[in-house]
Amino acid sequence: MQGSRSKYVRGKRLCPRCRKYKLADNKHFYHDARRWDGLSLYCQECELTKARKYYKKLSKAQLDQRLESKKAKVKELRLLILQHYGGRPPKCACCGEQRLEFLVIDHIEGGGHRHRETVKKTGVGFYWWIKRNGFPTGLRVLCHNCNMSRGCYGYCPHDKESGQQLVALNRSDMRFSRTKGTRYERRSNLDR
Ligand SMILES: [Zn+2]
Ligand SMILES: [Zn+2]
Ligand SMILES: [Zn+2]
Repeated sequence: MQGSRSKYVRGKRLCPRCRKYKLADNKHFYHDARRWDGLSLYCQECELTKARKYYKKLSKAQLDQRLESKKAKVKELRLLILQHYGGRPPKCACCGEQRLEFLVIDHIEGGGHRHRETVKKTGVGFYWWIKRNGFPTGLRVLCHNCNMSRGCYGYCPHDKESGQQLVALNRSDMRFSRTKGTRYERRSNLDR
């Protein structure tokens, strides 16, 4: 469309840094919404070396500050997700543990590892995935202890210690598997 862009040759674009013609796609150039063609000025390789050089110039204090703000962002995201699935304040669906450090996101029907593998995300990446995908159903909040025991032994000692909890949890689990998540869908609809 832009005839004057002579830097374009048959779908390829000239990278002004390394002076090479590379395919004008997302495999060779990064996405950049601010530019007219939506692609970064330099090719991916050059953008990477540029970024590395830039990072090397940063002082220790600047690097620390970046790390801190990244940590704060992750903390905020984690709280958002824990609140969505575990209420306010978020707590373990099994024992009621409320200390945030102990809480994890658990797959109600198991298969957490497999699922995380299919979405190719672990740790923080999994949290971003949850947000990007609009808080999918089938997840809940557990503490590390309850999560571990359920994963390794298929039950939690809390089940035996408190008959009440056992009944409540079993009933909800049964209802969950029978109605394929309607209970949780209903709950998250209320949240919205
Ligand atoms: Zn280049
Ligand atoms: Zn627990
Ligand atoms: Zn438990």
